[in-house]
Amino acid sequence: MTAAEELPLRPELRGRTAYGAPQLAVRYRLNTNENPHPLPAELIAELGTALGAAVQDLNRYPDRDATALRADLAGYLTQTGGVAVQPAQVWAANGSNEVLQQLLQAFGGAGRTALGFTPSYSMHPIIAAGTGTGWVDGHRRGDFTIDTAQAVAQVREVRPDVVFVTSPNNPTGTAVALETVAALYAATEGVLVVDEAYTEFARAGTPSALTLLAGRRRLVVSRTMSKAFGMAGLRLGYLAADPGVVEAVQLVRLPYHLSSLTQAAARAALAHTTALLASVDAVKAERDRIVAALPALGLTSVPSDANFVLFGRFADAPAAWRALLERDVLVRDVGLPGWLRVTAGTTEETDAFLTALGEVAPAHRLGDWHP
Ligand SMILES: *Cc1c(COP(=O)(O)O)cnc(C)c1O
Repeated sequence: MTAAEELPLRPELRGRTAYGAPQLAVRYRLNTNENPHPLPAELIAELGTALGAAVQDLNRYPDRDATALRADLAGYLTQTGGVAVQPAQVWAANGSNEVLQQLLQAFGGAGRTALGFTPSYSMHPIIAAGTGTGWVDGHRRGDFTIDTAQAVAQVREVRPDVVFVTSPNNPTGTAVALETVAALYAATEGVLVVDEAYTEFARAGTPSALTLLAGRRRLVVSRTMSKAFGMAGLRLGYLAADPGVVEAVQLVRLPYHLSSLTQAAARAALAHTTALLASVDAVKAERDRIVAALPALGLTSVPSDANFVLFGRFADAPAAWRALLERDVLVRDVGLPGWLRVTAGTTEETDAFLTALGEVAPAHRLGDWHP
C-alpha cells in the first residue's frame, strides 16, 4: 500500500500512479514534445517589461474572465484558423490540461462517461478519473487511424457525455480528417472535444476543426501555448467553442484561476506570434528528416502531423528506450508494444538521436529487415 492509500483516498484513485514523464538530467530530452528553440530575444525583453508592469498590481486579484487575453487569443485564431472567432467563444486556463478538466467538471462528472480513441493523450482518462467521470476506450485500427464508421457506431452505442478526438493525435502523430470529426459530432449528443495541441505542426492541407464550429454548439477545440509556441513553462491553454460552452466552464472554474502574471505574459507573447512560430517550419523539417532516416535503420514510423514521431518496431521497446538513454538520448516509452516516441527539435538533437538510434537499432529492431 502506498502512503496515499493508507489515507481515506477515493476508491477509484487507489492503485493509480501519478502522470509522470521522467524529468531526467539527460543531454537530449526528447520525451515531452517541447519546442527546444529559445524564445526570440525581443520577446524576452518585452516579457520582462510586461511582467514588471503586472507586478505593480499584484495586490489586486486578476481579471477573473481574462477579457483582454481572450480577445488576443480570438485574434490569433481568426488570423490563422481560417474562420472568425469572437472573444466570447474563447476561454483560457493554466494549460490545456486545466481547460480539459474544466470541461469534464462541467459536462462529465459522477454518473457520466467520456470516450476517447486510445492510444491517445494519457491525460484524458486521468482527468476523467479526477473528475469522477467514467471512461471508455474508443477503437482504432491496427495502423492507429480511426475507422469513422466503427467510431460512429461505438459512440452511438456508448452514448458518452464527452468525446475526445486528439488531432494530430498524441502519441501516434496523425491528424484526424474533418469528415470524421463531423461524423462523430453528428453521432453524439454529448460534447465533442477536439484536442489540437499540435495543430501548428500539421502538414499542409490539414484544416483545423475551428472551421467546423459554426452551427455546432457542442463542439470544442482546445489549444495550447505549450508546444508550437515554445512556452510550456507559461501554462496557458485555451479553447474555442460556442459562447454557451464558455459560460458552462465559468460555472466550475476557480475564481481568479489565471494569475495576472500569466495573463500579462501570454498577452506579450501573442503580440509576437510570427517570431514565436518562426521555428515551427524548422521543427517540421527535423520531423521529416527523422521519418526519412528510419527505413535505412530497418525501422518505420507512423505518419506525423506533429512535432514528434512514433517509431519502431522494436522487439522490446523498453530495452531500446534504455539503450538510447545510455547514449544520453531520452525518448518516450508510451506503453505501445514495439514503439517509442521521439520529439523533433533542433538539428543537433536530430543528429544525436539518429546517431544513437543507428547504434541501437541493429540489436533491438523487430525481426529481420532486408533493404
Ligand atoms: C502536450 C499536450 C497538451 C498540452 O497540455 P498543456 O496543459 O497545455 O501543457 C494537451 N493535449 C495534448 C494531446 C498534448 O499532447
